[in-house]
Formats: sequence, structure tokens, C-alpha cells
Amino acid sequence: MTTNPWLVPVTTLRRSLGNRREEHRYGRVGELRVGDTIVGSGAEVEADAILDSVDGGVEVTATVAAPWASECRRCLKPVTGVLRAQVREMYRPRGFGEQTDDDDETYPLGGEQLDLGPLVRDAILLELPIAPLCRPDCRGLCPTCGADLNEGPCGCPPPAGDPRWQVLDRLRDPSEPSE
Ligand SMILES: [Zn+2]
Ligand SMILES: [Zn+2]
Repeated sequence: MTTNPWLVPVTTLRRSLGNRREEHRYGRVGELRVGDTIVGSGAEVEADAILDSVDGGVEVTATVAAPWASECRRCLKPVTGVLRAQVREMYRPRGFGEQTDDDDETYPLGGEQLDLGPLVRDAILLELPIAPLCRPDCRGLCPTCGADLNEGPCGCPPPAGDPRWQVLDRLRDPSEPSE
């Protein structure tokens, strides 16, 4: 039997305003991807949540942690990390036939339970690094020979656009207008 790890019972919580319930949950959320960065379908995601019974629904304050994998945008080596996202969101019961307009940024509240899954997924998608670096000063790959410049200089001349070479280019080609 597979149980949804993100479902939290709320019947008791909602009996009176001001009730609070703390939940520590972990489980899978399915594969999430932004650019080249993914949270794998087998990744274990954690959520520390505080649920408050408030006027109009349940307010959820949560810290979400998820491991991600990607590649360095400069040298293309695999990079992994763990993101931490803080969120505060409202869960509100939907009335019969109630229109859910696009401006409504609340999550649906069932009569007896609340599903943390959509909140956890949204929090991850907002925080996933789209183009991470393996380290802040990654030197990347040589555009000419493709060597990993983190392992030392490759011996290629500096790429076109390097001001030292533009001067030489102008000397060699007199037709190019000088500035
Ligand atoms: Zn890198
Ligand atoms: Zn090179």
C-alpha cells in the first residue's frame, strides 16, 4: 500500500482558531525540472511545517529541503546540492461551484485533510538553481580546444575580443577603421 506522505489530517486542528499542529514529513514528490537542474523522482524531500488554524482556513509555514542535480554552466561537470526553501501559504476550503480564479494563490483545503504536496513542489520549483556553478570562480572550458581551464591553462591564444589581440589585428589589417 502506498500512502501519500504529504497528507495531514486537519479535523482536530480546525475545531478552533489558534490551534497549531507541527508536522515533520519526508517523501517523494515526483521528478521536478527547471532547465538542466532536476530533483529526481527517487529523491527524498523533507518538509518541516507548522499548521495554524486561522480565520478562513489553515496557514502553513514550512521549510522544504530537497537534493538536486545539475551541471556547471561553465565547465559542464556534474553539480549537486540541497536547496532550502521557506514558504508561508494559505489553504482555504473551496465552496460548492466556487470559481477558482487565477489570482487565488491559496491551496485547496479538504474537509478532513490537507495535501502538503503541491506546496512542497511549488517551493522547490521556485528555489531550484537554473544555471549553477561547480564553484563561484569556475574558469570554464576553453572556447577553442574545450580544455577544462580549472585544470590549468591549455596553451591556446586568448580568444578573439581580448583587447591585447585587437590591437595586433588592427596592425595586421590596415583596412579596418581605427577608432
Ligand atoms: Zn564548473
Ligand atoms: Zn584551449
